[in-house]
Amino acid sequence: MKRKLLIGLGVLLALVVAAVLVGLSARSIPETSRFAIDVDAWRALADSPPGARPIELRVLQVATNRVPQVAAIEGGAFGEHFDMRGYAFEIRWADGRTVVVDPINDAESMGETFPEATWDAAAWDEMQQAMRVADAIIVTHEHFDHMNGLTNSPHFDDVIDKAVLTRVQVEADTYLTGVDARIRGRVKPLDYTGIHALRRGLVLIEAPSHTLGSQMIYVRLADDSEFLMVGDIAWNLANIARPATRPRAVEWAMGELGDNTAHWLRALHDLARQHPEVHQIVAHDKETVEPLIAKGLVGQGFAAAR
Ligand SMILES: [Zn+2]
Repeated sequence: MKRKLLIGLGVLLALVVAAVLVGLSARSIPETSRFAIDVDAWRALADSPPGARPIELRVLQVATNRVPQVAAIEGGAFGEHFDMRGYAFEIRWADGRTVVVDPINDAESMGETFPEATWDAAAWDEMQQAMRVADAIIVTHEHFDHMNGLTNSPHFDDVIDKAVLTRVQVEADTYLTGVDARIRGRVKPLDYTGIHALRRGLVLIEAPSHTLGSQMIYVRLADDSEFLMVGDIAWNLANIARPATRPRAVEWAMGELGDNTAHWLRALHDLARQHPEVHQIVAHDKETVEPLIAKGLVGQGFAAAR
């Protein structure tokens, strides 16, 4: 009996070890991506709506969180962390119109999920004021950390009609979604497939991957500078630069379409080599944001609130 128990425990332990090893492993990145990136098509579409292109892209850091490197990328070091920044963005046109991207979540929902996070109340207020005067509010994907600044906005009734959310973002049953019944009841979803020009110089690129409602956001300014916000398809620049995905355990936990993510990471890796002029912005990674601020390509703090 005792021996049977020991064998049983041994088998269980072997299964746990196997699960951990498989969970920490990551799917391989394909040699070629099934997602074709056609920058010329984005450029042409960006210039199809009337008016002028935006003049500025700005960033506002609302939060910082610590995430184990082993969760962020295959082969990440045990015991090491990376700063997961909570960045919101603002696109500004010369006529004063603005679009806010990824309204970072409120203190309460931040603390519930990321107890170690630091959260900047003044920056969040600045973001809320910018949302009140914005022309539109969009998100790279429906996770709560990219949209609870809208869902839990103290100015909900003032800002909700500005939200431009895709049908998938609104309707998908995404784990950790920021969409609630109030949002579902108020937002008229946007339907598009492939790519869609939201404003002159602003193109949405459908990319179900990290979540079903993930999209990338291409911005081309009046001075021809170009940006691609990839949202959380990567958490680290290294996901694109190596390229390498998050471990399978994280994909499973998030309910991610991991195969799509791997194909997008290949496409973004190739894009970085072929079109280095398109500045890729990883939603949470200061390594992609701080050099753009230092070069004066992206402004710091929101302009609309001032
Ligand atoms: Zn995120």
